[in-house]
Amino acid sequence: MPKTIESVGEFGLIDILKKYSFHQSNIIKGIGDDTAVLYYNGQRHLLYTADMVCEGVHFTRKMPAYAIGHKAMGCNISDIAAMGGLPTFALVSLGLPKSLPVSYVEDLYKGMYELGKKFNVSVVGGDTVAAKQIVINVALLGEVACEDLVTRKGALPGDWIMTTGALGRAWKTDKHTSFTPRVEESRFLVKHFKPNAMIDVSDGLTADLGHILEESEVGACLYENEIPRNPGATLKDALYDGEDFELLFTMSETKAKTLMEWQAKNKRWFFYSIGRIQKDKGLFLADRKGAMVALKPKGFTHF
Ligand SMILES: [Mg+2]
Repeated sequence: MPKTIESVGEFGLIDILKKYSFHQSNIIKGIGDDTAVLYYNGQRHLLYTADMVCEGVHFTRKMPAYAIGHKAMGCNISDIAAMGGLPTFALVSLGLPKSLPVSYVEDLYKGMYELGKKFNVSVVGGDTVAAKQIVINVALLGEVACEDLVTRKGALPGDWIMTTGALGRAWKTDKHTSFTPRVEESRFLVKHFKPNAMIDVSDGLTADLGHILEESEVGACLYENEIPRNPGATLKDALYDGEDFELLFTMSETKAKTLMEWQAKNKRWFFYSIGRIQKDKGLFLADRKGAMVALKPKGFTHF
């Protein structure tokens, strides 16, 4: 029996496929972060990412096309923000059923266009093919000054774990199709309070924090009382649901305290401190009674 994709899982599959990517000296960071990081010039790196949204997996035909376009562009912009960068140019490739009204595709594009425009992203090309179900792939370029780059690697014991907003139930609250990618927050952070590690919450808090822990070779403890939740979200929703597209980052205690003082005075954004990085590996939750519960970093996986 041949091994199926289901039996190895999404990340198992990526591991198998990694061997078909060969290294070039211009690749600063290849597979395994929110975007690839490529040599551009001595001052700036290029960021390069692609995200695909498919009918029946990420959206249904009942949802407004505009919102789906917003999501397809937004999840890519969010990945550029997770590296501390600014998005620039996009290629949009569409698989479309022949019977689809032209107005539907226009609405889809409007959603992508309006969000893209807000962040200075121009669509500069792509491809259109016939397909049985709607498939939208956005490939996005971005840039970051070398000193502003933040990856998943770099979290240190004692760091505060922070997020830019509430988590859980993004699907039930429509947040997954209406969120604003946290580019401004990310740029503010890298310029004034540069985080040690950063990722965006797409697969779920424990899963995405799990990526930071793995890359940084550390462990973490989350505080149940401190995790901000979207309306109606349970603790479980906040820990394991995906597609909030908030930033999750870590920084030294000294910096984090100064950031908290800053935000007490300037209420422009709100950053939440939700846990601590620790030397010992593993992921734990300090519950309301102060007891430590071991957590499994799991979240949404495709297979
Ligand atoms: Mg990401």
